[in-house]
Amino acid sequence: MTARDVLVVGGGPAGAATAAFAARSGLSVLLVDRAVFPRHKACAEYLSPEAARDLEALGVLEEVEAAGAAKLTGFRLVSDDGAAVIGRFAGSSGFTPFRPYGLALSRARLDSIVLQAAARAGAEVRQGVALERLLVEDGVVRGGLLRDAGRRWKETARAVVGADGLNSLVARTLGLARRSSPRRLALVAHLMGVAGMEDYGEMFAGRGRYVGIAPIEDGLVNAAAVVPVADARAVASDAARFFFKQLGRAPELRRRMAGARLARKVMIAGPFARTTRRAVADGALLVGDAADFFDPFTGEGIFAALRGGRLAAETLAAALARGEATREALRPYAFARRRAFLGKWVLERIVGLGATLPLVMRGFTRRLARRAHVVDLWVGAAGDSVPVRTLFAPRHLAAFVV
Ligand SMILES: Cc1cc2nc3c(=O)[nH]c(=O)nc-3n(C[C@H](O)[C@H](O)[C@H](O)COP(=O)(O)OP(=O)(O)OC[C@H]3O[C@@H](n4cnc5c(N)ncnc54)[C@H](O)[C@@H]3O)c2cc1C
Repeated sequence: MTARDVLVVGGGPAGAATAAFAARSGLSVLLVDRAVFPRHKACAEYLSPEAARDLEALGVLEEVEAAGAAKLTGFRLVSDDGAAVIGRFAGSSGFTPFRPYGLALSRARLDSIVLQAAARAGAEVRQGVALERLLVEDGVVRGGLLRDAGRRWKETARAVVGADGLNSLVARTLGLARRSSPRRLALVAHLMGVAGMEDYGEMFAGRGRYVGIAPIEDGLVNAAAVVPVADARAVASDAARFFFKQLGRAPELRRRMAGARLARKVMIAGPFARTTRRAVADGALLVGDAADFFDPFTGEGIFAALRGGRLAAETLAAALARGEATREALRPYAFARRRAFLGKWVLERIVGLGATLPLVMRGFTRRLARRAHVVDLWVGAAGDSVPVRTLFAPRHLAAFVV
């Protein structure tokens, strides 16, 4: 039996995009996911304006919009003393985003649409099939031992893509996964009856923790609370109670949540942050959260998963056309990721750490209250449409000191 070209493990945005672009370039692709779609995923469910470019390249942007995605024109940032600023993607930053808004759609809907795109492109998609372990010979990944409800079998492939999320079995097996600080957990739910929702997302920062809310489809609101991992015991004892307690910390949110109730049970994600030593190995590469996940504050994970999938597929097609998917042959993917995501990595770290320091957030909201263009720049950078280096131009940095 001849081996397939590519075995993709995981059918979230990273795996589905990789499979779609790889199949389009003529590779034979098998994608497996242990879940059966539609499946829920603990996520704030907002797509940055730039992610729409990738959805369009996959041919699903219209379908995502037609599925009821809410349009977010920007973000409101609120510090623990109640001071707030609003930044718009198409505001006064001087940069024009691919779309003047981000989209917000439940992952149950979004991920099913993207996964169907992979199947339409020619990838074989098998749901309810888990990777049990990698097949590794002499340090080279050759495929995987797969399992469904009734049986186990070996599937060989010329390359394996680890798109299996935050706790990636592929990354762990290859010894590439690394924990990183800060150690945090997230609780996410869908709510009905939240008062005062507008056409933007809102982030309420607190000491060592924060809450984000945003409208999604069907009048629902996605609410996410990110807390230190030290709170794990309280989370485990009663997740829903703990979740509402976090939402009630900010006086404004407490008022607006008075009539809110759960439309979906509270889901838990983490612990994060996680990085990897590198995203390529002999016979394998990592995409999406399997490759790295720092913190959700800037909401760039789905964009990175989709864009990373495209970059991975380009490298796989070139490497397999020339011969084997050796670590050396896959190295262009590592360089392409760095070029595409270096700014995002820097921003995630500055924002993910700074937003949980009350003095920093108070300074940000106070100083920038009358400097809308600088807030637009920061929100635009988080929306992936403003180059991060722009934020550090002396004239923009001056807004924080004068
Ligand atoms: C609280 C929170 C809020 C977030 N909010 C946002 C946001 O608003 N916007 C944004 O862009 N990003 C956000 N993110 C990040 C975003 O959710 C991720 O970056 C994104 O889901 C990564 O996609 P992925 O395809 O890499 O992984 P996933 O979406 O996690 O998909 C991985 C898939 O692999 C499958 N899998 C796992 N193990 C196996 C196995 N052994 N065998 C077979 N299948 C397997 C799983 O079933 C799953 O379907 C948030 C993250 C968190 C934690």
